[in-house]
Amino acid sequence: MRGTGKGKTKEKAAVWLLILAMALTAAGCAGSESQVRRKETAAGTQAAAAQTGENLTEEETKPAEEETAEGTAAGRQEEETEGEEETSADGREEPEGGETDFEERSETVYATAGVRIRRSPSTDGEVVGILNENESILRTGYSEEWSRVEYEGTECYISSEYLTLEEPAQTAGSGGVYYGNGEGPLVCIDAGHQGKGNYEQEPVGPGAAETKNKVAAGTQGVSTGTPEYVLTLQVAERLRDVLLERGYQVVMVRESHDVNISNAERAQTANSWECGAFIRIHANGSESSLASGALTMCQTEANPYCGDLYTESRSLSEAVLKGFTEATGAGNRGVTETDTMSGINWCQVPVTILEMGFMTNPEEDQKMAEDSYQQQMAEGIADGLDAYFQ
Ligand SMILES: [Zn+2]
Repeated sequence: MRGTGKGKTKEKAAVWLLILAMALTAAGCAGSESQVRRKETAAGTQAAAAQTGENLTEEETKPAEEETAEGTAAGRQEEETEGEEETSADGREEPEGGETDFEERSETVYATAGVRIRRSPSTDGEVVGILNENESILRTGYSEEWSRVEYEGTECYISSEYLTLEEPAQTAGSGGVYYGNGEGPLVCIDAGHQGKGNYEQEPVGPGAAETKNKVAAGTQGVSTGTPEYVLTLQVAERLRDVLLERGYQVVMVRESHDVNISNAERAQTANSWECGAFIRIHANGSESSLASGALTMCQTEANPYCGDLYTESRSLSEAVLKGFTEATGAGNRGVTETDTMSGINWCQVPVTILEMGFMTNPEEDQKMAEDSYQQQMAEGIADGLDAYFQ
């Protein structure tokens, strides 16, 4: 069945094709599933992978012949099936293949570079996914050359060379801009929204089937005409400065309007820095121009993604709302508990969303635009954080 030159060529083509297909699929999966940091983009992965033997780059830069082959779905299917058969057959012939003896393990390992996840312990093995640098996976078996891992509920294999038991250093998270001297509570500030909404979809929480817009456009001042994303950044920057004066460390999710960061990614920035609190700054909108006052939001105790952080998030929400309303005199609309916010559901740190006031209320809109009131708002939030961390 195999062994002829012609067979090998076809085999190779099938493998390239597969790899391309799998790489494309994996790139998609990695984006939505990974709980790792925003900076670990496909580009980053490729760069990291380029230094490895088990890397993506060389195969992905193969000539366009794959693209033509891709046109025939039927042919592709046939080749894929064949490829799988061949893999297992080849696996037995390869020294690093089927004869591998695995020591039983049950341990978390981390990728030292972007590396392929294969169906069988062989460089000919079908690629089923990619483990990005610093991403973790459960290792169930070890040999010098190959590690058996659990991937999406199945046994797969990764070159042992690119796995380590050592947890990656968390001295610096990714995404966001850090301020501070390494001391004091670390607060992540997210200025809600951005210059342009992004209506692509993302899961509302890790592993969720339900999706939401990556980031909505936000509301707008009915009197000032100021977009919400402008106001939120003004207050976020004031809050940053107040907190730094008070001895905090700060991570700013954004400091520009010209960004494209989804709500889930914002949460992941706070997660990657292991922030002590994540403050998401927003302003409210209502059909009624009479609606006014501030509120905070956090998850419910039953939140399937981060219910374990309910107590902290609730207490953070209460503290921030109290500090804010006391400093500004704004009406207190209480803490709202909700599990519909991606930017909360993706959090692995205590989180609160502050709706500072209603931009649809002309008076409140004008007030929130004033320098002195913005300063009061920032001081009030900081008071709340002081109380929370005390
Ligand atoms: Zn908003």
